[in-house]
Amino acid sequence: MEIIDGIPASKGLAIGPGFIYSVDDSRPERKMIADSQKEVERYHAAMEKADDALKALYDKAIESMGEETAEIFNAHRLILKDPELIKDVERTIVSDHICAEFSVFRASEAAAKMMESLDDEYFRARAADIRDVANRVIQTLKGNIIDVVNLKEPVIILAQDLAPSDTVKFDRSLILGFCTAMGGSTSHTAIISKALGIPALVGTKILPKDLDRQTMLILDGNEGQLIIDPDEDTLASYYRKQEQFNQQSQLELSLAHQPATTKDGVNVEVVANIGNLADAKDALAKGAEGVGLLRTEFSFMEHMVIPDEETLVKTYHEIFDIFDDEPIIVRTLDIGGDKDVPHLSLTVESNPFLGNRGIRLCFERPDLFRPQLRAILRASLNTNLHIMFPMISSLGEVRQAKIQLQECMDSLEVDQLEFNRNPKIGIMVEVPSAAICADQLAKEVDFFSIGTNDLTQYSLAVDRTNAAVAHLGSELHPAVLRLIHRVIEEGHEAGIWIGMCGEMAGNETAIPILLGFGLDEFSVTPSLLPSTKATIRKWDRQTAKKLAEQALNCQSPEDVKRLVEKYQ
Ligand code: PEP
Ligand code: MG
Repeated sequence: MEIIDGIPASKGLAIGPGFIYSVDDSRPERKMIADSQKEVERYHAAMEKADDALKALYDKAIESMGEETAEIFNAHRLILKDPELIKDVERTIVSDHICAEFSVFRASEAAAKMMESLDDEYFRARAADIRDVANRVIQTLKGNIIDVVNLKEPVIILAQDLAPSDTVKFDRSLILGFCTAMGGSTSHTAIISKALGIPALVGTKILPKDLDRQTMLILDGNEGQLIIDPDEDTLASYYRKQEQFNQQSQLELSLAHQPATTKDGVNVEVVANIGNLADAKDALAKGAEGVGLLRTEFSFMEHMVIPDEETLVKTYHEIFDIFDDEPIIVRTLDIGGDKDVPHLSLTVESNPFLGNRGIRLCFERPDLFRPQLRAILRASLNTNLHIMFPMISSLGEVRQAKIQLQECMDSLEVDQLEFNRNPKIGIMVEVPSAAICADQLAKEVDFFSIGTNDLTQYSLAVDRTNAAVAHLGSELHPAVLRLIHRVIEEGHEAGIWIGMCGEMAGNETAIPILLGFGLDEFSVTPSLLPSTKATIRKWDRQTAKKLAEQALNCQSPEDVKRLVEKYQ
């Protein structure tokens, strides 16, 4: 029996034989060509074929995996047709007389490396998309595309990395789980596995080299482990755990559209964190009662140029349209820090998390901020709109943001364009100074949403992207709990409601403490909606309150965990 550790990417347990999947992604040879015009034509013909194949994969994925997963292939078609990439490839063919295969490889590697250099995990994961599309074109040029893998029995698929186009090559009903050596919690393997409800483990760094069909594997997507050739006792205990887990998830999902009511009858709002239309649909399907955080920076980062006001109106409108009168909290641009946008050429800073980020950058770049505010207001006519400003660290910033919003409304009036005149205004409380001065800030806004991802890193001085200090950055640290408690108390004192959109809102250990503090709204990633609701239903406010008071006096995150266990 051998155990390999990795990052849990999609919950659940899979037990069965493994299938090692590998693709030809070898570096193409750098060959010189004589007729560059002909080579450009050959490149375009391959692109056309690749585009047809992606369209076919989209249609297949719609049937077998649903619209959300299928969308990835549309995104790939956009990468394929990216004018900058095409120009780059053509330039190499024409000026350097290099074959199409290598020209595609060179241009896409440069683009992928640029994405990888970003600190944001989401963008690092997009590098895999660029490479996947490039490899499709290269393989098409070589005449080698294989779009189906015949599995003979249900298996756990093991691969160095899995691109979305790889995952649809398999018959969905025969996939027990995914395990990849590469990738992080927002890699595509993770996204697709969560969407499909398939247990997954990523970032194991190593994988078994070969496996025979008799070797059993256990993939634990909850704890993040791959167990190779388990002994009989281990196997039996995992079969029991699997049964329990599946029953539990089924039950949670069947209740996802019911309210999250505590044992003593208090309805707690559970909403979703989303980044695009596909997330919005997924959120509705999993019981979201609205949107607690629309991360608008993603639509900026996905384009290779700054999207104009009309493009943004269309993007936002599509998302707003699928909700009725549920609240939607749109966060204005939060770029800078770990979210760089290459086409904006932001200044390189030595401490980007303490630098020109979020609202600070927006004040400096009205060319980004104003069209965005106008687009949000224009797209939200029949929407229960809430606008939220990120990275607020002082009262002056809130006032300035509100003035700019008013100026945008005035300009829309002058332009005689229709817009939402009554948005609710809120801020992210994610900087310790905002938490400490919550009493003052609460008088300026309609709501707070606590961003624990940043609040934790700033209050504990632990860079959220630095794996070397990750063990010091627990959101259950008593200092973080005390700040959160203060924000909720002060907010309520001023008569406003308080939500949370940091990852902590979906953490089952933290939920009773947050309930005890009186948090009004929990905003979590769509896949965690059913379990978050289920956890809330297990507690009554009185017990949670007692637990929360004691948690404030704990001495470490471990103490807090032990305390919650004691109450369960
Ligand atoms: C947070 O900081 O908790 C948050 C929700 O924002 P982001 O993760 O986008 O910085
Ligand atoms: Mg944040």
